[in-house]
Amino acid sequence: MLFDAGLGDLFVVRTAGGCVDAAVTGSLEFAVTTLGVSLIVVLSHEECGAIGAAVSSFEEGDLPSDLTRVFVEKIAPSVIRAKRDGHEERSAIEEIHAAETAEHLVHRIPPVQARIADGSLGVVAARYRLEDGRVTSVEEHFAG
Ligand SMILES: [Zn+2]
Repeated sequence: MLFDAGLGDLFVVRTAGGCVDAAVTGSLEFAVTTLGVSLIVVLSHEECGAIGAAVSSFEEGDLPSDLTRVFVEKIAPSVIRAKRDGHEERSAIEEIHAAETAEHLVHRIPPVQARIADGSLGVVAARYRLEDGRVTSVEEHFAG
């Protein structure tokens, strides 16, 4: 229910906390090289529970022993970056996580990097507000 998109308009790769693993990078590489997708949107959202778990773990110095640990490990770099830059608000951490994830995709998926360079692909980090459904762009990767 986003961007007025109909069935089949979007190729959606969805994980808790927007965590990236080999299946995610492989899916995005497929979308870019085979499906000819021209825009990747890394969309974080308000009140993200996975990001909340990572922030709590960081602040309390306590790593969870259950399955949420994988989210904490994947989101920790974003929490560290946010804290380093003086951001304590959840909204800022959610935006920074989207930006950090977008940069990760741009730098770690060679076809994504190549298609940005030739101007046929853009990567945007954004955050979705549950309250009013607004999407705010946080960072954009386009040629030039
Ligand atoms: Zn979430």
